[in-house]
Amino acid sequence: MFIPLRLAALSVVISLVSLGLKVMAWRVSHSAALYSDALESLVNVFAAVMVMVALKAAAKPADSEHPYGHAKAELLSAVAEGGMILFAAVLILERAASTIFMPHLPSAPVLGLGLNAAGGLVNALWALALGRSGVTRKFPALAADQAHLVADAITTVGIIAGLSIAVLADLPVIDPLIAMAVAAQIAFMGGRTVLRALSALLDRAPPPEMVDRIHRLVATHAAGAIEAHDMRIREAGQSRFLEFHLVVPGTMTVAESHTICDRIEGALKREMAGVIITIHVEPDHKAKNEGILVK
Ligand code: ZN
Ligand code: ZN
Repeated sequence: MFIPLRLAALSVVISLVSLGLKVMAWRVSHSAALYSDALESLVNVFAAVMVMVALKAAAKPADSEHPYGHAKAELLSAVAEGGMILFAAVLILERAASTIFMPHLPSAPVLGLGLNAAGGLVNALWALALGRSGVTRKFPALAADQAHLVADAITTVGIIAGLSIAVLADLPVIDPLIAMAVAAQIAFMGGRTVLRALSALLDRAPPPEMVDRIHRLVATHAAGAIEAHDMRIREAGQSRFLEFHLVVPGTMTVAESHTICDRIEGALKREMAGVIITIHVEPDHKAKNEGILVK
């Protein structure tokens, strides 16, 4: 199996182990804060599955049914993941609200916190291993997974510290308050995931620096042409499409103008692997004196 896919599968297994430990921590302690951490771990399981879907979708080539490829499957699963995260936040808030007026200290606090810490440690070690492996530099989906695991490890440390204070100072109200803070953090993360994926589903333009680089590449490789205008670039997940009009002298032969197109396409494809380019060639009276002027 493709190595990043194997790592993603391992991520799912590890997140399930961590979830198991955190659910046990909640069951022995009946703590709202540890319940919130267990639900946060459930989010990790969804997230790890999402990474697998993303890597598989990105690897699947276009076919006759989906001639533009399957890259958007990654964004759709991100929307679903964000929705589940928001739902987890609602569940946590509901529990925190129901205990805040009659808070109680966690039962079996040492065992509960110990199990929770073990679950957190599993995640932290896996995040470290993913970072060391170097794959996160090549696969953004795995990098996002790793960043998420690091954030969770920090949340777990905060929860354990807060609950320890609650137990030592005999302040049970800290328990639902921690749960509410975790719910707020998860809701923010889920909302951001949904909004980013929805924006990407609407075929977003690449960042301005990238657009500038593309303009410069076209200008330097289009010698013989007059201008390039009406350029549009769109990205959705891993797929990229670029189209523009290329104005050439009306007397130029089709073969000559095609050579210019091939030269531009070659340069752009070296810059952006996998980009799909469409160039519409026009005679000089179609010049708009705007866009990219070729010297
Ligand atoms: Zn035109
Ligand atoms: Zn061609």
